[in-house]
Amino acid sequence: MNYIDLTIKEQKNIALIAHDAKKQDLIEWCLKNKDILSKHNLFGTGTTSRMIADATGLRIKGYNSGPLGGDLQIGAKIVDGVINMMIFLSDPLTAAPHDPDVKALTRIAQVYDIPMANNLATADFLINSTLMTKPYTHKIEDFNLNVRERAEKLKAQ
Ligand code: PGA
Repeated sequence: MNYIDLTIKEQKNIALIAHDAKKQDLIEWCLKNKDILSKHNLFGTGTTSRMIADATGLRIKGYNSGPLGGDLQIGAKIVDGVINMMIFLSDPLTAAPHDPDVKALTRIAQVYDIPMANNLATADFLINSTLMTKPYTHKIEDFNLNVRERAEKLKAQ
């Protein structure tokens, strides 16, 4: 596999998303970590971001609501290299109509190797990591090379 080095800067672009049963948990977590979060750029799905902004006063850019495509918008920003960290408190006990979008978002976060927390304990470990205050260089698959090689291979068939 061919990789390129990408650097997540000291100031992170963090997506905050919570399913309904987890929204209060995420709001309380944001209040607890408000000082740290205020040093970074925040993004979120529609309802989550509005509720966090109202409860904490943090500035947060909101996308569409999750079931209306917000998860996919956040995923696209990960692909574009804009969003580079994610706290996504999904609800493991309730079926969601947009489950395919939830899977797509968590999958693309894995593909792009961004730090991602799916529960509060991991979110606590992430936000208190020493890497939150430094740049972090990681290896991402070289997608240009991947496209070139696949196109060449398919043409040769
Ligand atoms: P919401 O979307 O913030 O608009 O509730 C979150 C989700 O369900 O993915």
